[in-house]
Amino acid sequence: LVGNQVVDREVDSVCPFCGVGCLLTYQVKDEKIVSVTGRDGPANHNRLCVKGRFGFDYVEHAQRLTKPLIRKAGVPKDSHEISKPGHWSEVFREASWEEALMLAAGKLSSLKAQYGNKVLAGFGSAKGTNEEAYLFQKLVRIGFGSNNVDHCTRLCHASSVAALLEGVGSGAVSNQVNDVEHAGLIIVIGSNPTANHPVAATWMKNAAKNGTKIVLMDPRITDIGKYAWRTMQFKPDTDVALLNAMLFTIVEEGLVDQEFIEKRASNFEALRENVKNYSPEKMALICGVSASVIREVARAYATSKASMILWGMGVSQHVHGTDNARCLIALASVTGQVGKPGSGLHPLRGQNNVQGASDAGLIPMMFPNYQRVTDDSARAWFENFWASPLDKDPGYTVVEIMHQILADDSDPHKIRGMYIMGENPAMSDPDLNHARHALASLEHLVVQDIFMTETAWLADVVLPASAWPEKTGTASNTDRMVQMGRRALNPPGDAKPDLWIIQQIAQRMGLNWNYAGAESGVAAVYEEMRQAMHTVISGISWERLELESSVTYPCLTADDPGQPTVFIEHFDTKDGRVHLVPADIVPAHERPDEEFPFVLITGRQLEHWHTGSMTRRATVLDAIEPIATVSMHGEDIAKLGIEAGAVVTVQSRRGEVAIHVRRDDGTPVGAIFIPFAYYEAAANLMTNAALDPFGKIPEFKYCAVRVIVGGD
Ligand code: SF4
Repeated sequence: LVGNQVVDREVDSVCPFCGVGCLLTYQVKDEKIVSVTGRDGPANHNRLCVKGRFGFDYVEHAQRLTKPLIRKAGVPKDSHEISKPGHWSEVFREASWEEALMLAAGKLSSLKAQYGNKVLAGFGSAKGTNEEAYLFQKLVRIGFGSNNVDHCTRLCHASSVAALLEGVGSGAVSNQVNDVEHAGLIIVIGSNPTANHPVAATWMKNAAKNGTKIVLMDPRITDIGKYAWRTMQFKPDTDVALLNAMLFTIVEEGLVDQEFIEKRASNFEALRENVKNYSPEKMALICGVSASVIREVARAYATSKASMILWGMGVSQHVHGTDNARCLIALASVTGQVGKPGSGLHPLRGQNNVQGASDAGLIPMMFPNYQRVTDDSARAWFENFWASPLDKDPGYTVVEIMHQILADDSDPHKIRGMYIMGENPAMSDPDLNHARHALASLEHLVVQDIFMTETAWLADVVLPASAWPEKTGTASNTDRMVQMGRRALNPPGDAKPDLWIIQQIAQRMGLNWNYAGAESGVAAVYEEMRQAMHTVISGISWERLELESSVTYPCLTADDPGQPTVFIEHFDTKDGRVHLVPADIVPAHERPDEEFPFVLITGRQLEHWHTGSMTRRATVLDAIEPIATVSMHGEDIAKLGIEAGAVVTVQSRRGEVAIHVRRDDGTPVGAIFIPFAYYEAAANLMTNAALDPFGKIPEFKYCAVRVIVGGD
């Protein structure tokens, strides 16, 4: 009996949405999930947000894919048609699994045979399990023959990871979210945690009630601002100016932790020299935050008993995203605010398994466990481990792959065929008209998903996959916790587990893969991945996860409880020291002008998850937020002579959408905010594909647009 209803069974699993990684229990009756309750997991302690608690009935939506589909002969790939979902029976025909798999794998193989190893690419998914991510990247590296494999980490924290690997030698967080209760001060920068990491935000709010000072630094003042000790609403794109001004204050006022710097940091002199140019008085004119507030916050951060920095994509999604994160690493390091409880660096990871998918090697420049493909000894280790030769060149990243699809026919690296598992680049990539044109131009596109996504619409073969509650596997959350999800339902119709599909494709590309055991051999795949990541998760066996559900890494032995705080004695760099990297101001790639006077900021909202393919098909979530809106400051709405609720057309140099106006005075005057979950008003039609040179992340948080009253 759960609540007032009798259920058939309860199944413990993990939330499929954000990186907080709340443990939950599905209540199942008549082979349907009827409710979800929070479990006492280490990240959530029984709490769930609206997505975790109510966003489950997408799994039984009538639009679930239940049969393999093959594009009908002669039907063109029209990227303009994809905003009309529901007509796909005119485009695809049903097929048997054997026919679909033979076509999917056969054409990939023939493209490789005809044009060479570099012409295929794969996108895996941060919404899948660790085992799926591991096996998918292994398929691309061995079966396709290149490192052209990536996923949406490229669109969220790639620049943070680039800075962290360079600075501290590890891309993961140093301290867990609920460590905020031990902090005297926490900086929340470029993040809207009440919308994007809601349960994590509850720990921040609790900490604030118990005396922790929250400093919100963001161009948009969001709900967490109600709990803030100070809000620093800096102008969009001026992160480096603001953060360097804080570093200037800390150096000038003698607030550095000299002992920490001498024993544990390198390159401090270069940093000190660089920040001399960034006095708060000068930078206030650039970032719009007063010098007195910059100095006050810098002092409080440096002198608090423990200070922690949590950041989101407002930091990372810029052409200077890596520089932004370098400044945060420098702030924590010169003040000794890292390597102890309540301090440190926490990039709040977005999707439920973006941490794990990256750890598992679903990235083009690194094998599992961040071993660089260019490192001869690392590559030799994996060649031996997988008994296969491996490519020594880093592969293309997400946006680079879109460009390479449209490369000249004579280019031996022109991407001609792709396998996309669970990602939706036709909604999530920047400059969608370009990305959709690229996807439609592929000679062969295989898409594996649970719905006819905008990307699947452009496929040659569509393979019906399993939703999260329909499979067993692990995911790693933002806190470095490896957590066990368990199958609560069977997939509908002829839909299959993703792990099974990957192995079937591999077999038809000449690989003798057949992982033995239940659930498509998931435990065997996990154990292989554990060996590949033996320096981090060797103490986390499958059996241990079955018993404990959640174990934090690094964890090296069976009785190791895991390390919630890292860098206590040394950093993971070669010399054990944090490497400080000075950063200078690099302006956004596209600035507002007379023609396009507004700044467009894109992001997420509480009720909808990423490209909306799941949450917009969840009844409760769709009822709360059914239509796309553009958030604008009241002053800007008044200047346009309209009222909230009116329809406007937002245009950039690349695309436009018609959309309803929502008043939000937390959005700065001169900027607008659009969530990217709505296919009918796809924000990424307008965004700019300019990349951060280090993380190769697009500048989703800044491009120039204009707003015109009215629209279709
Ligand atoms: Fe799921 Fe994140 Fe909400 Fe937790 S906070 S219930 S993980 S969406």
